[in-house]
Parts: sequence; C-alpha cells; structure tokens
Amino acid sequence: DGLDALAALLVECRACPRLVAWREQAAAHPRASFRGQTYWARPVPGFGDDAAGIAVVGLAPAADGGNRTGRMFTGDRSGDFLFAALHRVGLASQPESTSADDGMVLTGVRLVAPVRCAPPANKPTPEERRRCGPWLARELALLGPGVRVVLALGAIGWDAALRTLEEQGWPVPHPRPRFAHDAEVVLERPDGGAVTLLGSFHPSPHNTFTGRLTPAMLDATLGRAKRLAGI
Ligand code: SF4
Repeated sequence: DGLDALAALLVECRACPRLVAWREQAAAHPRASFRGQTYWARPVPGFGDDAAGIAVVGLAPAADGGNRTGRMFTGDRSGDFLFAALHRVGLASQPESTSADDGMVLTGVRLVAPVRCAPPANKPTPEERRRCGPWLARELALLGPGVRVVLALGAIGWDAALRTLEEQGWPVPHPRPRFAHDAEVVLERPDGGAVTLLGSFHPSPHNTFTGRLTPAMLDATLGRAKRLAGI
C-alpha cells in the first residue's frame, strides 16, 4: 500500500549528513551489551496499524534503540515503558517489543516521529527537523482522516509535531499551544476533519524512574486517546 511505498522511499533517505554519520557511527561502535548485533542504521519507518485512529509522536529514534532494531521505540527503556502501557490498554498484542520480527501487532495505533534518524544527544537541529517533516506529513496524509488523535510524547515531541504540521499546511493557532501533561488541543486537518493533539510526559527513564510519569498516568492518557478516537 501507500504506507509501504513511503517506508521504502524513507529508508533510502540520506538528506541529513550529520544524522547519517551518527546513525552509522552507532552501528560501528555498539554499546557493550549490543556488540555483535547488526544495527539497522537507517531512517526508521512508522510502525503499527495502517488504519490507526491514534498516532503517537515521539521525537527521533535512539542510537541504540530504534536505530538498532529498525522499529520505532523498540530496544530502549522509553519504548519498554510505552509498549507495556499500549499492551495494558489493549492496543498492543504483546507487552514487550524486542525486535522488528517479534510478531508484535498494534491495533488502532501507529508510532511515528518527526525525525527518523537517531540524532546525537537525542537532539535534532531545527534544520534537521524541518527537512524530515515532510515524511511525517506524508505518513499522516496517507493514514487519512481516520487519525483522530495525535499523542505527543514530551515537550520536544509536542513542539516538533506542531511545527511540522504547521510547515506542512495545517492551521495551527498562534501563539502555539503549550505542552503540558494532559494538554489537549483540537487542530483542523488541511484535508478536512479534525485531530485532537494530546500531550504526555515522555516515557524516558528520566521521567519514569522519578515517578513524574507513572504507568497509571500513561494508561489514563492512552485511555483518553482511545475514547477520543472512538476505539
Ligand atoms: Fe532523511 Fe529524516 Fe533521516 Fe534527515 S532525519 S536523513 S530527512 S530520514
């Protein structure tokens, strides 16, 4: 389908020299625990339901996470926390996502990102985010008006999602709505219909180890996303 064709094009992208170098360097110098593994080391396509009602927007793959496994949010602790929650609320077939061929099936949800290559220190530059934005916009356009909820993880993911959508022709209010855990903003789609943008603290160890984001909090936000998406 169109999403597969988009992914086939995406994985060939080498538009950001700094990120191409970083994703390949991570593969050449894996962390001790991943030594001997073959890293994906390419742009990471969206993962999940082609008919998703919820798009979860992170920021970018982690060098030893998605950049290693080739699947969004797979292979790092943020992803472990997210997939466990997706499974608890009935959106994921398994509680753990360990590799791109572990049989995981997501229903009703798709995991996407505004930046598809692992950036140094998990921080893409504004230019890299701008360059990558059209991939996300095309993916959302192909998913179509069935996507009723965009769940942005973390302030950076929230801002990146809003800026990307705005640059791709979505009418975004000004000043741009600010991130908060449980923030909720209704956005009109350029192709008709509306999307509710929800915010959640990012499930990074920094937030989950400190209890800033608990499993119950993420479950509640995902439950809200499900209701808004009619799932
Ligand atoms: Fe291409 Fe996006 Fe990767 Fe840049 S970050 S090289 S635009 S896929």
